[in-house]
Amino acid sequence: MKLVFATNNLNKLTEVQKMLPNSIELLSLKDINCFDEIEETATTLEGNAKIKANYITKKFGYNCFADDTGLEVIALNGGPGVYSARYAGEPANAENNMQKLLTELNNKPNRDAQFRTSICLNLDGNQFLFDGICKGSILISKHGEKGFGYDPIFQPEGYNKSFAEMTPEEKNKISHRGLAIQQLVAFLKSIS
Ligand code: IMP
Repeated sequence: MKLVFATNNLNKLTEVQKMLPNSIELLSLKDINCFDEIEETATTLEGNAKIKANYITKKFGYNCFADDTGLEVIALNGGPGVYSARYAGEPANAENNMQKLLTELNNKPNRDAQFRTSICLNLDGNQFLFDGICKGSILISKHGEKGFGYDPIFQPEGYNKSFAEMTPEEKNKISHRGLAIQQLVAFLKSIS
């Protein structure tokens, strides 16, 4: 079965393909000649994942899954959440986003936060949602050089280092995206 992963990130694609049975062939957006800018206009992560998966299924006819991720901070009532990528405004900039978050949390006692990834799978006319959560807290300052986005200021629960101080393998095992993908893969294996 051919299955589109609504991404152009080849690292993500290869990683998921390795976890799937050979009977499932993953295709990127480029593989199906989709170069459209899909607008993520929903106010929830699930909503944006659905918009992307539905766009591909409707326009190109493929079974497809799409993901959307956000950082949810308790003291900010779940923000920046679905707006994480452009928290400090356009264009998206990880450094400015982190600075803004550190400033917002200045003097706030509760620094609890979680990353959440929503995946929407459209399969043969049915829709399935998967959710991966990684709980942790926002550090006072940046630590580590690896990863991307908010990694230097996010410390997962049970660890005394940031995501940016972990190897990709270490992070993938416990990360929001890793957990959501594991659920998706388990589901796809169970039906193939
Ligand atoms: P996306 O939905 O995967 O594009 O993620 C949206 C935004 O959330 C990104 O632009 C990053 O700012 C942030 N983000 C998502 N995943 C991670 C992560 O694993 N570490 C740090 N930041 C992340």
